Amino acid sequence: MGNEVKKYRIYVGGEFIEPANGEYIETINPASGKKWALIPNCGKEDIDKAVAAAKETFYSKSWKSLSPTKRGRLLRKLADKIEQHAENLAMIETKDNGKIYKEMLGQLKQIPAWYEYYGGLADKLEGKVIPVDRPDTLNYTLREPLGVVAAFTAWNSPLLMVALKLAPAIAAGNTVVIKPSEHASASTLEFAKLFDEVGFPKGTLNVISGYGRTTGDALSRHPDINKVSFTGGPETGKIVAKNGLDNFTKVTLELGGKSPNIVFDDADLDAAEAGVIAGIYAASGQTCVAGSRLYVHEDIKDQFLERLVQRTNQIKLGDPLDPETQMGPAANPQQLEKIQSMVETAQQEGGTVLAGGGRPDEEGLKEGLFYKPTIISNVNNTSTIVQEEVFGPVLSVIPFTTEDEVIKMANDSKYGLAAGVWTNDIKRAHKMTKSLEAGTVWVNTYRTVTFNSPFGGYKASGIGRENGMEALYEYTQTKSVWINLSDEIQDPFSLKL
Ligand code: NAD
Repeated sequence: MGNEVKKYRIYVGGEFIEPANGEYIETINPASGKKWALIPNCGKEDIDKAVAAAKETFYSKSWKSLSPTKRGRLLRKLADKIEQHAENLAMIETKDNGKIYKEMLGQLKQIPAWYEYYGGLADKLEGKVIPVDRPDTLNYTLREPLGVVAAFTAWNSPLLMVALKLAPAIAAGNTVVIKPSEHASASTLEFAKLFDEVGFPKGTLNVISGYGRTTGDALSRHPDINKVSFTGGPETGKIVAKNGLDNFTKVTLELGGKSPNIVFDDADLDAAEAGVIAGIYAASGQTCVAGSRLYVHEDIKDQFLERLVQRTNQIKLGDPLDPETQMGPAANPQQLEKIQSMVETAQQEGGTVLAGGGRPDEEGLKEGLFYKPTIISNVNNTSTIVQEEVFGPVLSVIPFTTEDEVIKMANDSKYGLAAGVWTNDIKRAHKMTKSLEAGTVWVNTYRTVTFNSPFGGYKASGIGRENGMEALYEYTQTKSVWINLSDEIQDPFSLKL
């Protein structure tokens, strides 16, 4: 792709077009700090056009006559396309959000599985015959699509989030408008080109870009949207959900987290160390499931922290495209500022920095948005750094002695996205999985997700589920059909109960 600045177009009604207002947003490569792409800054005209295209397609003959089996086939064809272009798409994501190429390529290689899985499920969305207490009545249910889905994605894993939303939405028979994050729109706009080649009716998918507070806000308020599917921060999620509710849309929210990673004294410490590192430093901590609260048993605290600090100090920061790099930069300047200010607040509240705690000053790193992997101790469960999401490589450490104590601390959070438990005691493992308030609990592993296992948050971490059969239901509504098979004439003045 060289050093030229790439200019993207939006994808509306099956056409790649310039934004009506002619405005673009500059996108920087966080590793170099250099401008590398221009993405359209869509206004009302483009939003209206995209929603109208999706609505027109939804009610069109071409969409209604595309059977679920055929929709499924096209989704599987899309999976093949993505597989063929995985390297290019991963490269674009790395340039856009600064996450290491190995991570983005790993995601891109798995993304086809979502389209294959939901492609396979498209013609298995069955209703039920209900055995109602009336011999002469047939009652059955139909699972029907909602209409136009507006999907909003965060910048950290753009195409993975697109897959989590687009695959079940189309499988269930909806049409879609996607608004990716202004910090990482390029891969979704590039993906639209592959989608276009697959053969879906024009307008099945529409991709517009622009700022969240303007383009995103207007899309979420659009009266012709029937479902909002959002991934991002909790405060934005609240706004988007309220906007959607004004139009009585169904809403799915995948929000932030402050996930506990709990290491017991009976744990395999090598495995726990790797799991804690994966939980907080993978993707530079810019993952919703970041295990950013380490609860470590008092009896192994000193020993475990010593090895953790040593390993943390060895993490190789660098160019996300270099295969040797383990941690890339923060994705954008605002994100870096947030990390810096939250570490400062932690210190002001009495926290001790055991590792990292600042930006690297080496040549080759100081130009980019890098922040050193950081461990902070001497904090308690009410400290800001323990309660608020950093979305960066910052781990807080709190010791504990009993199961009940750690369960209480782990659950004392507004969030409930994920939790990790490290123990070799099977009874303890089950007690913990039952007691932890989180949508995902990992035992002796961390940061593993897949297409057919439900994913989502308790409490402020979200509403609804993605992945698996549950996600498909989020994109449908149920119709109950009553057929009178008797000759009896109904009493018009009483409800038939
Ligand atoms: P964000 O909330 O700033 O933005 C998310 C999306 O919403 C973007 O597309 C943005 O343009 C759009 N947006 C922003 N303001 C809007 C508004 N007023 N109206 C409509 N749309 C608006 O989040 P982010 O900074 O992109 O991502 C980081 C957050 O996402 C973190 O909190 C992280 O935990 C969360 N996240 C959650 C999951 C999950 O599955 N639970 C996955 C990844 C990220």
